[in-house]
Amino acid sequence: MERRYWEDVEAASLEALKEIQTKRLRRIVADVYEKNAGYRERFETAGVRPVDIRSLDDLPKLPYLTKDDLRDYYPYGLTCAPMKEFLYVHTSSGTSGKPVVAPYTRQDLDMWAELMARGMWASGFRRDDVLHNAYGYGLFTGAHGHELGANRIGGMVIPIGAGNTRRQLTIMQDFGATALAATPSYTLYLAEVAQKSGLDPKSDFNIKFGFLGAEMWSDELKDKIEQVWGMKACEQYGLTEVIGPGVSFDCGEGNGLHVNADHFLVEVVDPQTGEPLSSGEQGELVFTTLTKEAFPVIRFRTRDLAILTEEKCACGRTLPRHSRILGRADDMIKVKGVMVFPRQIEEAIMRVDGASENYQIVKQVKGSMMGLRVLVEPTADRFPSGTLEEWAEQISREIYTVIGVHVDVEAVPPESIPRSEGKAQRVTKG
Ligand SMILES: [Zn+2]
Repeated sequence: MERRYWEDVEAASLEALKEIQTKRLRRIVADVYEKNAGYRERFETAGVRPVDIRSLDDLPKLPYLTKDDLRDYYPYGLTCAPMKEFLYVHTSSGTSGKPVVAPYTRQDLDMWAELMARGMWASGFRRDDVLHNAYGYGLFTGAHGHELGANRIGGMVIPIGAGNTRRQLTIMQDFGATALAATPSYTLYLAEVAQKSGLDPKSDFNIKFGFLGAEMWSDELKDKIEQVWGMKACEQYGLTEVIGPGVSFDCGEGNGLHVNADHFLVEVVDPQTGEPLSSGEQGELVFTTLTKEAFPVIRFRTRDLAILTEEKCACGRTLPRHSRILGRADDMIKVKGVMVFPRQIEEAIMRVDGASENYQIVKQVKGSMMGLRVLVEPTADRFPSGTLEEWAEQISREIYTVIGVHVDVEAVPPESIPRSEGKAQRVTKG
């Protein structure tokens, strides 16, 4: 009989899981202290020694690690294994300043492959599946992580990488792809180009599921992807600083993502003050890697906002879950005194008939006030009808119901907003 979970630990009792976590936490804390002068110094500044960490409750004694801290240690300053043991290296996108450099030992790569397999197995990926891997190959973790997971299960990978969309579609059809790994925005762009060539993504392709991520996307966008492609859109969450994708995964129940908590300890904290929050409260996710060798992180602040729960999931897994990412603390825009996330605007746009997934949020500073203007492309069917002003007003009203603030919405002609082959640029400065 086929196994239900990739690994038994996914449905272990909470007590058993906590025992594994405690043992591993004590070991990793002792390890980083012994092996890395930077960590030792940080712990000493915070007045904590490895012997002070006896249980999971002692976790708050350890200092946080931020992305800026990691940049200060560029490139290998916070690594805990000799360089000769590094087999691979990835980096964060580094859109602002230096990237974070994340090397992997053999054991790290092996663990990553197992965790990717866990998540992909939960979504239904099997040996006879073929993964069209359209994440950009290179220093970014997305492509490599999914390749490792698919191969670990025994499925074939088409390492197409990013770019050349028409060729991608031909290869997807000809090579028998059944699964797609890409950003959500690129998944929809692939559909758009297919439709323009007279193809129906649903019936002219055999894509059953997508492993999508690396971008903020609303439930509404997820629904749209599922409808257009006739696929199940599965989410894989992760960050380069922690390991890449494979930190948490979608079990298909639609109740959030299971954290691979035997390898990554998760906390949720107040994004402003850093105070720990309880289950059920919205806050910033913080991760501690429990088993990574080359580049462990202790209490890394992700800036990603979500809600955590330890309630048992309908899939039978006991691994704790977090909601889909609600926004990034750094993407929050303050408009007329109200905190707004780009995702909320996307949610409102996607609710209006005739709106495509192509939109752009333009931030405009007027004196000391921040104003927002939203550009939205109608679908090709909606476009020629001559009532676009009214339609834009309808979107503006929908946005108001979600965020409680009026923003100007402008309808722009189809195909005027730039598409991306990687992460979509949703917010710009005007
Ligand atoms: Zn589940």
